[in-house]
Amino acid sequence: MGTSKDLPEKFFSFLPDGQAFRSDCYRGRFAPSPTGPLHLGNLRTALVSWLRARFNKGEWLLRIDDLDTPRNRQGAIESIERDLLWLGLDWDGPLIMQSQRREIYRSVLSSLKLQNKIYPCRCTRKDLAESVRANKDCFIYPGTCRDLKLPWCINDGRFPSLRLKVARRFANSCGDVVLRRSDGFIAYHLATVVDELCLGISEVVRGEDLAHVMDGHLAVIEALGGKPLIFRHVPLLYNKDGTKLSKRDGSRGLQSCQSLGMKAPNVIGLLASSLNIVPKGSVLSAAELLSHLTEHATFWKRAFCD
Ligand code: GLU
Repeated sequence: MGTSKDLPEKFFSFLPDGQAFRSDCYRGRFAPSPTGPLHLGNLRTALVSWLRARFNKGEWLLRIDDLDTPRNRQGAIESIERDLLWLGLDWDGPLIMQSQRREIYRSVLSSLKLQNKIYPCRCTRKDLAESVRANKDCFIYPGTCRDLKLPWCINDGRFPSLRLKVARRFANSCGDVVLRRSDGFIAYHLATVVDELCLGISEVVRGEDLAHVMDGHLAVIEALGGKPLIFRHVPLLYNKDGTKLSKRDGSRGLQSCQSLGMKAPNVIGLLASSLNIVPKGSVLSAAELLSHLTEHATFWKRAFCD
């Protein structure tokens, strides 16, 4: 970790490869983890997120959340790019890879440490599982290690996890979230929030399965002195048996649609009609769907759970 107490220079305007984006415009992003091909639920979220950005005459970035390297799958990034482009969902600027931004996350962590905003936590999985039970399956870390002043170094071959001392108002909604995991990996909460702020994202559109991380993200944004963002959630798609679609389980994606002879406008029609934003059986390209959009609240209400 570095030693600066301040956030990295130009923290709030850091953009990859000196790429200039328009300032002061709507900027959204789609941020898949490369754990397998996108399934129809992911593609539906990507479609809504793209529509929001294009409707607002803004920019849409594609970020690959590839920090959790053991979960990454070979070929997944190429398949994500191919599928989005096949559907007509184009992104702005270069692909943003979290794995190339580790130095930024580390320096943010270092600055939070110097500001006494994080602490080492040595709770075991068993300790945590017990507090999940006590909280009726909703995990909120009870702050066990917050005031213990535990060592920061590796002990018994393990790092401590590093937790954020969240502001009091987040104590009952998310608790002290993990910013670096005990295996040494930068945690999702930190990398995501740093990127939203660095990349100037104005609105995050993601699946409903991530609605529960919103408070944690707001707590991290506050700790970093960033401006809160708007978070919106698209309902999930389920398998016929009621289970969630999953990339890792190879849930139905574009390949299965393509093997049935479907073309991009059939898939866009299917995804949009599954949200009731166009009639069933509609066949239209992403650009045509965009040109039909209006400010009409009903449309966006149908696309989001909140
Ligand atoms: N990378 C995460 C995922 O694929 C999503 C991150 C996000 O949209 O915040 O589930």
